[in-house]
Amino acid sequence: MADKKNYYEILGVDKKASQDDIKTAYRKLAMKYHPDRNKGSEDAAEKFKEINEANETLSDPQKRAAYDYELEHPGMGGFGGFGDGGFGGGFGDIFDSIFGGGFGGFGGGRTRRSAVGESIQYEMRLSFMDAAKGCKKTLRYKRNAPCTACQSTGAKGGTEFSTCSRCGGKGVTQQVMNTMFGRTVQQSVCPDCNGSGRTIKEKCPDCKGRGFVQKETEVNIEVPAGADTGSYTKMRGLGHAPSGGGEAGDLIVAFRVEGHKIFTREGFDLHVDLPISFKTATLGGVVRVPTIDETVEFNVPEGTQSGQTFTLRGKGIKSARRGTGNLVLHILVEVPTKLSREQKKQLEDWADGVGVKQHERMKKYADNVEILYGDKAY
Ligand SMILES: [Zn+2]
Ligand SMILES: [Zn+2]
Repeated sequence: MADKKNYYEILGVDKKASQDDIKTAYRKLAMKYHPDRNKGSEDAAEKFKEINEANETLSDPQKRAAYDYELEHPGMGGFGGFGDGGFGGGFGDIFDSIFGGGFGGFGGGRTRRSAVGESIQYEMRLSFMDAAKGCKKTLRYKRNAPCTACQSTGAKGGTEFSTCSRCGGKGVTQQVMNTMFGRTVQQSVCPDCNGSGRTIKEKCPDCKGRGFVQKETEVNIEVPAGADTGSYTKMRGLGHAPSGGGEAGDLIVAFRVEGHKIFTREGFDLHVDLPISFKTATLGGVVRVPTIDETVEFNVPEGTQSGQTFTLRGKGIKSARRGTGNLVLHILVEVPTKLSREQKKQLEDWADGVGVKQHERMKKYADNVEILYGDKAY
């Protein structure tokens, strides 16, 4: 670092010089030492080279920030090889490796990520049948829509801008820092222009410079058959537009499905309790059972027990994308109540005739109790 060149001295400007001051100083000197005007003068050529070198660094806020740091902290070597002559080309490479290397994720510090607006979440209540069969709904909601008068820029007519003075139009500001990895340049989005590199000269009167306007929006929602609580549909770009332009967020419509008097759901399967008479359970018989579209006949087999289930394949929810569910019948055998004395007598006589031997589950239960406790259950 022995013969470190002071670029400020070369250009004859103060360390606090503005970009405009640097530009003016450079132009003046460049004209003075231009080779065309100083034919054959080696000193002038050398001086001209120096001026250009100084300008290349100081006119670029990124490079200037790093240079300033180097100037104040000589010999720390973080950037390597300042003043060693190989400035011109090498410098850019060093910067690229600092900004573009594994650390930053800023894409070389040169690309600006466009802002994305906030998403809007909306909970839509659906009746059981609407969700099971699928339906069309219209949703009205308020959102920050992009301002068309200024193309979301917030500037009058979309054109009334000036270059951001803080970041010189780069959209980022840098700070050179010492970290455990050595010296790095920390980059952050310019707080004055939010990374856009420009500031609004005159605000758009429609959106008052925000780039968006609040707007009542209507959207048609296609609710798929089989929509369930917790499922949702996402519509890109129908959320809020960000301030100052960029991509609008999403509209997320989450479904909440109400219960049903008859059915319960398990995915695309429907469950229904089917009460049948003691007689039908014993002798069998035809009953009508509900599906989501209509009722269908079901043949209860002879000797059906309470708690038994029957699965009717394909009679559940029909989802276009994810197949068809089943209808599961849960049998509830109704025991007769309010019997007359006469009926009770008949039942007693009948039961004596049937005996425990004819009840499969009762027999098994009685045997198990006897094995365990030695007691007779019936
Ligand atoms: Zn800025
Ligand atoms: Zn506007």
